[in-house]
Amino acid sequence: MTGRKRVLLAAPRGYCAGVDRAVIAVEKALERYGAPVYVRKEIVHNRHVVGELEQRGAVFVEEVDAVPEGAHVVFSAHGVSPAVVAGAADRGLQAIDATCPLVTKVHREAVRFARDDYEILLIGHDGHEEVEGTAGEAPDHVTVVNSPADAATVEVKDPSKVVWLSQTTLSVDETMETVRRLRERFPHLQDPPSDDICYATQNRQVAIKKVAKDADLVIVVGSANSSNSVRLVEVALEYGAAAAYRVDYADEVRQEWLDGVETVGVTSGASVPEVLVQQVLDDLAHAGYRDVEEVKTAEEDLIFSLPKELRGDADRRGGRAPGRGDR
Ligand code: SF4
Repeated sequence: MTGRKRVLLAAPRGYCAGVDRAVIAVEKALERYGAPVYVRKEIVHNRHVVGELEQRGAVFVEEVDAVPEGAHVVFSAHGVSPAVVAGAADRGLQAIDATCPLVTKVHREAVRFARDDYEILLIGHDGHEEVEGTAGEAPDHVTVVNSPADAATVEVKDPSKVVWLSQTTLSVDETMETVRRLRERFPHLQDPPSDDICYATQNRQVAIKKVAKDADLVIVVGSANSSNSVRLVEVALEYGAAAAYRVDYADEVRQEWLDGVETVGVTSGASVPEVLVQQVLDDLAHAGYRDVEEVKTAEEDLIFSLPKELRGDADRRGGRAPGRGDR
């Protein structure tokens, strides 16, 4: 112990390109069509972001049948199944699809492998919106594998024609362990054509691994239903953090977590605006952790164009770096 209090601030952290695009899509829809604009499910899994958009006139609904006929509805960054798209069309809704293009890529893989009559083992969390959307592309071909333990029991009809795909926001290490166990049982298991776990999820995990080995405590800013945020807590603990907690807001950081702590690691999930991280840093500074060192493991400059239904306006993102959203 040196008695030197410090913060190691992971980078990349916070907003990814898909979240940035989805949030801007709702804002643009509100500007263009006026309130209310309906959003199926949370546009991204962050309480603060959803609350702010609600105040501006977004109405979040669970399913499209709760949207008045003919109204505008935004599909969230997590994606939707074809059945949801069809349900919206049946109601005459004006749909704006804010599905992250990296989720759409996994949907396309599912469609293609199903067309070629593969059985698809979709590694992901049963019940998560993204998994429901991807599985819904080929329900007769997809079986969800929740965890490495599930790999021991999952059954396939033809072990010679089976492929694995995954949710975009999983732990890389745990997913690879699931694949290893699946391959022990199904040696012909085919890999996806490219990584399904997205760049943002991977980058945030790499950064927190580097921070965690030197941290007495890691604070992850992110919501409880944010898969990638919850994974960051798990990864931090696995990679040497003495303790790790997830908070939505700075005032959830408990005084006792800081008892005897010299080095605090801080990061945030891919749906978290930087302002929430800054509030945690401000509170830590008040508690004596003024020395902040950024630990950067990657540069991110990916930007996605807006959903096609909203293109045509000047793209507001020209001057902003993704991952540093301040809403
Ligand atoms: S976490 Fe990845 S898949 Fe999800 S919205 Fe962000 S970039 Fe897209």
